Amino acid sequence: MECVFCKIAKKEIPASVVYEDEDVIAFKDINPQAPIHLLIIPKNHLSSIMEVDENNGDLVKKIVKVAQSLARENNIDKKGFRLVVNTGDDGGQTVHHLHFHLLGGRFMTWPPG
Ligand code: IMP
Repeated sequence: MECVFCKIAKKEIPASVVYEDEDVIAFKDINPQAPIHLLIIPKNHLSSIMEVDENNGDLVKKIVKVAQSLARENNIDKKGFRLVVNTGDDGGQTVHHLHFHLLGGRFMTWPPG
């Protein structure tokens, strides 16, 4: 079965898209864990951050820029937010397509569960 985030990137299944360019798409998490919970993903499939290397390093830089701009748009840039990349089973990764969670709009506790 094809990856759910690849399907979102190809518009084969619906999502609440908040940003899109040729390489990156960002959309609302279907099960939000904070008042603002967005997912920022590369359109091309990378299974996790472990697949980022010198050939696609610019992509991560671009995703960070998108996160900054979405933080500003949602007025959480000054108050603060969390940018999270769960990786692998122990990291709590459930969708095996690289994604950055942008969470904000409430105080974040530490350590995470
Ligand atoms: P992970 O646990 O870090 O892999 O995060 C996967 C995230 O994807 C979870 O927060 C899910 O709620 C979210 N998610 C799964 N399927 C969809 C979808 O179809 N649309 C939007 N978010 C999704």
